[in-house]
Amino acid sequence: MIDNAGKEPLKLVVVYDRNRNEYSITQHNLSPDEAQAFVERWNPHMTQGSSLISLDQPRRHGQSEPNQCRACRLIVVRSARVEPQPKFIRRNTP
Ligand SMILES: [Zn+2]
Repeated sequence: MIDNAGKEPLKLVVVYDRNRNEYSITQHNLSPDEAQAFVERWNPHMTQGSSLISLDQPRRHGQSEPNQCRACRLIVVRSARVEPQPKFIRRNTP
């Protein structure tokens, strides 16, 4: 794991489905600009009830597949302010 302290903050992007209360992680290790561009690019294409949310990522994650990244899931669990806790699903879109 590479220590990102003192460098550009990183962002991860989740897809949250508020109808099903499910989420999946679609991107991580993005710069803030990349995350914003990704959200703006894909949010209009989300199905109704789903949205892309970017979250702060304190350090770079070593896992290459965001949807298999445990560190991302921990960040989402800590950041989620909904009850019951959203359920993690593995999805490759977008
Ligand atoms: Zn991650």
